[in-house]
Amino acid sequence: MPFGLLKYGLRRRYPARRDVPVAAELKPSYDVVIIGGGGHGLAAAYYLAKEHGIANVAVLEKGYLAGGNTARNTAIIRSNYLTPEGVRFYDESVRLYRNLSNELDYNILYSERGHLTLAHTDAALRTSRWRAEVNKHLGVKSELIFPHEIARICPQLNLSDDVRYPIMGAL
Ligand SMILES: Cc1cc2nc3c(=O)[nH]c(=O)nc-3n(C[C@H](O)[C@H](O)[C@H](O)COP(=O)(O)OP(=O)(O)OC[C@H]3O[C@@H](n4cnc5c(N)ncnc54)[C@H](O)[C@@H]3O)c2cc1C
Repeated sequence: MPFGLLKYGLRRRYPARRDVPVAAELKPSYDVVIIGGGGHGLAAAYYLAKEHGIANVAVLEKGYLAGGNTARNTAIIRSNYLTPEGVRFYDESVRLYRNLSNELDYNILYSERGHLTLAHTDAALRTSRWRAEVNKHLGVKSELIFPHEIARICPQLNLSDDVRYPIMGAL
């Protein structure tokens, strides 16, 4: 249970505590200096402390924390990639994200739901099928579906043929 979130939910006063710390004065030296406070830099700092006991770490960020690609991406945490190596690697990442709010006692707004990657060409359909088979083989729930099934899951999509690139299927 993330206690920080529970406290925030029960509190009458807003806003809640500031979660981004004010930049500290730099020390003359560190055991490790990481350039860039994006997802990779922050994860490296976190795991250095957690797994290796190295906490004397500086993360130098020229903008604001995680304000690069990490803040601007689509933020889809998924493991339905194409190669077995990619699937295994990202599946482990999904596993880590599942418990991250608890681990950090901070709500990272992670929630699980379905995802459609639309296919508009024969080539995209073929790749979707390929991905689905690799995924299933490695235990990742993923399948190729066609317009009638897409319409059921996501009725907002325009599935007519009368568009420039009709939707032929989806992963
Ligand atoms: C549009 C878009 C959508 C994406 N969607 C997804 C998605 O859905 N799922 C997914 O898993 N991935 C997605 N990605 C990829 C993912 O966002 C990146 O792989 C990931 O964020 C890279 O993290 P990073 O820490 O390496 O880089 P960044 O998050 O870019 O961090 C680099 C940081 O370094 C700082 N920096 C750079 N130079 C210096 C310097 N000289 N001194 C100090 N600081 C410096 C920058 O300011 C920045 O904050 C997407 C990417 C984009 C662009």
